[in-house]
Amino acid sequence: MAKPADTRTAGRKPVAKATRSAAETEKIRAALAARRDELRAEYDQTLSEITELQRDRLTDSAGDDQADTGTKTLEREQEISLANSILERITQVERALERLDEGGYGWCERCGNPIPVERLAAFPSATLCVTCKQLEERR
Ligand SMILES: [Zn+2]
Repeated sequence: MAKPADTRTAGRKPVAKATRSAAETEKIRAALAARRDELRAEYDQTLSEITELQRDRLTDSAGDDQADTGTKTLEREQEISLANSILERITQVERALERLDEGGYGWCERCGNPIPVERLAAFPSATLCVTCKQLEERR
């Protein structure tokens, strides 16, 4: 005689063979959150550097020759593009956190296996497991 638990699961789609434990999901969440905080600190730092460069440019540009002005402009542009790329990475991590809540994050797009927690912590935007990534690069 079938127990109620058996009838409830009957007819359902089979559970994906690869599953992640709640503990692992928490580990990923913690790693992503730590990465986001790190990036935010880096972003704030870069912004204050930009502000400083901006201030330098306004205060001591009087005595500068064109080369100095050019260097400062270049430095400022580099800082701004750095800030933008950090911001982009913050967005990636935030998106990853959202997808993690929905259960759609951390699975290899190619083979469907879970991407190791360590890899996700190092590369929050990773969409392939190491094996598939290597295969991809070899092509
Ligand atoms: Zn894979």
